[in-house]
Amino acid sequence: MGKSRFGKFEAAPLSSDFIPSLREPTQQILWIGCSDSGFQETTILDLLPDEMMVHRNIGNMLIEGDLSSETAVKYAVSVLGVRHIVVCGHYGCQIVKAASREGLQGPWQSKLDSLHSANKHTIEQLPEEEHDRTFVKLNVLDQLRSLRQFPEVVDAAKSGSLQLHGIVYDTHTGEASRLVEEPECRI
Ligand SMILES: [Zn+2]
Repeated sequence: MGKSRFGKFEAAPLSSDFIPSLREPTQQILWIGCSDSGFQETTILDLLPDEMMVHRNIGNMLIEGDLSSETAVKYAVSVLGVRHIVVCGHYGCQIVKAASREGLQGPWQSKLDSLHSANKHTIEQLPEEEHDRTFVKLNVLDQLRSLRQFPEVVDAAKSGSLQLHGIVYDTHTGEASRLVEEPECRI
C-alpha cells in the first residue's frame, strides 16, 4: 500500500483477462504507453491487436496543451467510443526517474518535477531501489488524474461507458500490476 497526494493506492496482480476480449476487430481500448518500454507491454492482456488504439510518448504522459495526446484521447472517446483507457507505465523507465529529469524540457520536466515535489517525503522514505519504481507508479496515477480533466472522459465515465485503468509493467519479469486507488481519493 502506498500513499501519495492522490491518497492510498496499491498494486494488485493483473490477470490477462482483466479487460475481456471482444474477439472481433473493434477498437475498445485506448492504450497510453511509453516510447522506451520495448513495446511488449501491450501483450499482457489477452486481446487482439485490433482492439487497441495505441498512443505513445516519452513517459506515457498527458501534458496539458499537447495536441497529439489530447487529440488521441478525444478521438478515442468521442469517435471510437472506446470502453477503456489504459495508462501503462513500466519499471526501469529511463524517462520517469525519481532523481533525474536529465534531457527533459518544458512541460514534461515541470510535470515530473511537480509530481516529485508533492511526493518527496513518501519517496525518500523508501529503500533506494524502490524510489524509481514508486515514482513510475505515481506518474501513472498522475496521468489518470489528468485524464479526468477531459470533459469527454468525465461524461463517458459518468454514463458508465468508459473505465480508466493504471497499469505498471515489469520489463524484466514480463508481469504487470494494476494500480488500485481508494474510491474516495478519486477526483
Ligand atoms: Zn519509459
